[in-house]
Order: sequence, then structure tokens, then C-alpha cells
Amino acid sequence: MEAAKRLDGITYAIRDVIAASQELEKQGRTILKLNIGDPNAYDFDTPDYVKKALHEAIESKLNGYADSQGFLRLRQAIVAQNHRRGFDSTTENVVVSSGLSEAVNFTYASLLNPGDEVMSPSPTYPQYEALAKFYGAKNTYYELVEENGFLPDVDDLRKHVTAKTKAIVLINPNNPTGSLLPEKEVRKLLDFAGEHGLVVMADEIYSEMVFDETAVAAASLSKDVPIIAMNGLSKNFLAPGWRMGWVTFCNFPDDNVKKAFIQLCRLRLSASYPVEYASAVALENTGEYEPAKRQMLEKLRRRRDLAFKRLNEIPGISCVKPGGAFYAFPQIHDEKNVFADDKQFVYDLLAEHGVLTVFGSGFAEKPGSKHFRIVFLPPEETLEKAFGEIEKFMRKRGFA
Ligand code: PLP
Repeated sequence: MEAAKRLDGITYAIRDVIAASQELEKQGRTILKLNIGDPNAYDFDTPDYVKKALHEAIESKLNGYADSQGFLRLRQAIVAQNHRRGFDSTTENVVVSSGLSEAVNFTYASLLNPGDEVMSPSPTYPQYEALAKFYGAKNTYYELVEENGFLPDVDDLRKHVTAKTKAIVLINPNNPTGSLLPEKEVRKLLDFAGEHGLVVMADEIYSEMVFDETAVAAASLSKDVPIIAMNGLSKNFLAPGWRMGWVTFCNFPDDNVKKAFIQLCRLRLSASYPVEYASAVALENTGEYEPAKRQMLEKLRRRRDLAFKRLNEIPGISCVKPGGAFYAFPQIHDEKNVFADDKQFVYDLLAEHGVLTVFGSGFAEKPGSKHFRIVFLPPEETLEKAFGEIEKFMRKRGFA
């Protein structure tokens, strides 16, 4: 039977590489996994008070459907959280989704007609690229300049905007680079969006996962540029399997896009009611999370520092220091074309040394460049082992 054509060419590199790794595991090989952005797959876990709240929800019979737009108490907690992050909102402008992924899907579905264009950073989180394609829209990219710590370049933005461009995606902190945009850079991007009448999709799913500074909320910097502020439980509260996200519509001139978005929410009935309850408790009691959160960030900072140091010691590899999230995006300096492309690097490294990473082209990296993405979530011993193997691999291939 033929599958629908709309899925032709839709890929998701992060999960696509897993199949190759599973094949090796079937043969009894141990794989060092630096591929997936799931803290709970390593030694991180959801805060206890949030887990307890989920039990409580189930025991108190919150097992039915919730409001399609989102459980009101959760929306109130999101409004309070937005306020703490520097912008005011109302419960009417907040919509709860099953993970931020669903919010991206519903935003594109509500905003983009076939032929419209959406600008994403390059490199980008691949879902943006795939879903825009799915809706028949065209992706264009603005470069995050590696030599400049993966910050955007406004002149480059200007090169890619056209009359058909409807939205611009801002991922801060960024996946896959781990770069954190300073306030000045976010302002430049907002000014650009304002100048060209674009909706800003502000993906701030890693907003609390920063090491040296705080991550500025885009919506706190503008009172007139339409912004969809996106956040969720997955990363900040270490609960990606709970599939809980939310959006706040800020500065829209009318309710058309929000209404379309909510219509889609009605079609899928509701997000998970018990998880919405637990998410409300999570946001209402952030003070309770503080000590565990500090420990978690300290642990991540040590791993970030180790990854940054070790990757830069490996011949043929350089790496920008990540300021947030838990990713690094090292470059392979392959002037002699030892590797046909970044996929060959990733698959050979996996087959020969049992280290699983993701190829940079899966994140719409700068054409012609060769990168791979790692997560620095594993404990130090695993990271040390993995970097040792990557170093052996590069030396074996003639890098010195
Ligand atoms: N946005 C970014 C930048 C991500 O890295 C991810 C997941 O890795 C998501 C969105 C998806 O979030 P969720 O698990 O809430 O769907």
C-alpha cells in the first residue's frame, strides 16, 4: 500500500541514527550514547514533588478529559511563570499542548499556507524544518555564525526574508549548538521581525538550563511584535516523557491564529489531565525545586566544561562553548576530505568505536560544513570514555 506523499522526504536525524545503533547492540556491542536530548535516559530525574503531584492527580480522579485549551489552574500558573520571566499575559492567551512539539505542529498548521516561508536558524532543531515541509511551506535559514559563538547575523537575516516570509524561529538556548543569545541579539532579531511583519516563534524550552547567565524571554522585550512564546515541562523540569508544553500568544493584533490553534486543540480533545495538574503544581512551587535544580545545573556545568575541554583537544575537531541546554556541536576540520560527509563520520565512528552521535546535516548545518551533535548528559566517566574513543578514531584516520 502506498503511503501519503506528504511524508516524502520528511526525516528526523536524531531518531534515525538509533536504528544503526540497535543493530550493533543486537550483536552484543556496548554503545556509548551521546545522541538523544533526554536527561531521564541518564542520571537525571523529574523532581520528587512533581512526581508526587502526578500520583495525587490520578488518585483524586483527574483521569478524564481536560479543557481543550488547557486546565485553567495550569494556565494560571503559566501566566504567573511568564510574569516571573518578565512579561504579562492572560489565561485566554495561553494554550496547553502535548509537548512543545505539538505546539510547533499546531502553530505551523494555523499560520502557514502552502508556499509561505518560515525562517529558521541554521543549524536548527529538525522538527521546524520537517513540519514546515509537511505543511507545504518553504524553509529558509539564517546563519548562526560559528566564529561568533553561533550568534545570528542580521545582515544574513536580510538576505533571506521575502514577501512570502511569515514567521521566524528563535531557539534560545539553541539545540543543537547550546548557544545562548544575549539580550542584545534577541532585541536585534525582534527588531528585524517587527520591520518585516513576521511572527516570532520563541522556543524557550531550555530557558532554565543555563550555566553562567539567565536566558532572556523574547516576550519580555517587545510590546508590539507578535510572539508565540513556547515552553514546557520536558527539559526544565526533566520530564520529557510526560509530553507537556504550552504557548502564550503575545502582541497579536487579533485572535485569528490563536482561534485556529485552539480549534486544532479541540480536534485532539485535550492534553493529559493528570500531567496538566502535576505541571500546575510544578510551576506553582518552583521554590521547592530550587535546591535540586541548582544541583542539576552544577552537574551539567561540570559535564559541559569537560566536553568543551576534551573535544577541543581532539585533533581535527573544534567546539564552541555551550552556554545553555545540554548539547555541543563540534566541527570536523576535514580539509583532506577523509570523510565523504558528516554522515560517514557518524556511522564509521559508531561502527568502529561504538560511540553514537548525530550528524550535523540533520540539523540543517551550514552547507559544506561537517559537524556532529553530542549531548553532555552522561556521567563524566562515560563522557571521558566516549571522547577517548573519538580521539582514537580521528588519529586512526590521520588527524594529528
Ligand atoms: N524544541 C527544541 C529546541 C527541542 O530541543 C525539543 C526537544 O528536544 C523540543 C522543542 C521538543 O520538546 P517536547 O519534548 O516538549 O515536545
